Amino acid sequence: MIEELKKHADVLEDVSLNKYNTFHIGGIAKYLVSPLSINDLVETIKILDTNKVPYFILGNGSNVILSSKKYEGAVIRMNNLSGIAVHPELNMAYAEAGAMLPRLVLETVNKELTGLEFAGGIPGTIGGSIYMNAGAYNGCIMDYVASVSVLNKETYEIEELANEDIEYSYRNTIFKKEHKYIILSAKFFLKKGEKSSSMAILEDRQRRRIESQPINFPCAGSVFRNPDGDYAWRLIEACNLKGTSIGGAEVSEMHGNFIINKNNATSDDVYELINLVHDTVLEKTTVDLIIEQEFIGWD
Ligand SMILES: Cc1cc2nc3c(=O)[nH]c(=O)nc-3n(C[C@H](O)[C@H](O)[C@H](O)COP(=O)(O)OP(=O)(O)OC[C@H]3O[C@@H](n4cnc5c(N)ncnc54)[C@H](O)[C@@H]3O)c2cc1C
Repeated sequence: MIEELKKHADVLEDVSLNKYNTFHIGGIAKYLVSPLSINDLVETIKILDTNKVPYFILGNGSNVILSSKKYEGAVIRMNNLSGIAVHPELNMAYAEAGAMLPRLVLETVNKELTGLEFAGGIPGTIGGSIYMNAGAYNGCIMDYVASVSVLNKETYEIEELANEDIEYSYRNTIFKKEHKYIILSAKFFLKKGEKSSSMAILEDRQRRRIESQPINFPCAGSVFRNPDGDYAWRLIEACNLKGTSIGGAEVSEMHGNFIINKNNATSDDVYELINLVHDTVLEKTTVDLIIEQEFIGWD
């Protein structure tokens, strides 16, 4: 199987996932597979299915909590699929799933298109960001997506889904619910803007992040979704959980809804700390916080 896979993808075996996620945790993956093109991705999936090898897609690993157990399957990375094309004359941009969102933001702003500035500091890929409808400062990516090209894992067909065919809400999409699709690329509709005012917004948002988030520590952004009418950080801080730690993982002193890898945390440290925060908030406030990050490889 490996020789067949290598015709379509860069393949590494027995790879530590530690450096492929922003928490810097996780175990060994049997295969780390980076398809060379969209057609090669389709062939890769067919080969894995034929050989009954389980797989999952990893974007930039900035919203996942990976288990430390060995993953006896293939982790598929989209890093070879990272093309971006901006068409200011059409108010459109196109990006492949493996392209980084902040790069798309800068390339659109440089061509005087406005809309995506809210996402300048979200360290994810286009695929991972659409999957969970990433957002900040009252903006979310799905509000700017015209269509998404996907691989249907059941039929191996490539489909084009228009925005109106994609169910989405706050930090949620049909992709998260159904797991039937691999996101390949997306088209974005934007508006004519002015580079200087877009840059001013980007700088303001970056300053606000530096002031409020522990961005110098490995982490995966906000741990919990904000409950209706409230903020997860407010509830966590009201329960005096800031600074609480298990092993090397700590509830950030700077922002209650961030857990940081302060000192060589293990996956289990992070997992247990998330549970402790969840259970304490539930007990003290009766709010059942919902996790925003994804646990992968824990069953
Ligand atoms: C410092 C910091 C700040 C952050 N700030 C924000 C913020 O302001 N707003 C916000 O929304 N998030 C934020 N995040 C979280 C994270 O960056 C976003 O959720 C990001 O969009 C995740 O993208 P990713 O490529 O890293 O996805 P990953 O973490 O790699 O994957 C997340 C999920 O998406 C799936 N997936 C990835 N690519 C594909 C694909 N091509 N097809 C199908 N499924 C796919 C994966 O299987 C996984 O289930 C922050 C994270 C950090 C570390």
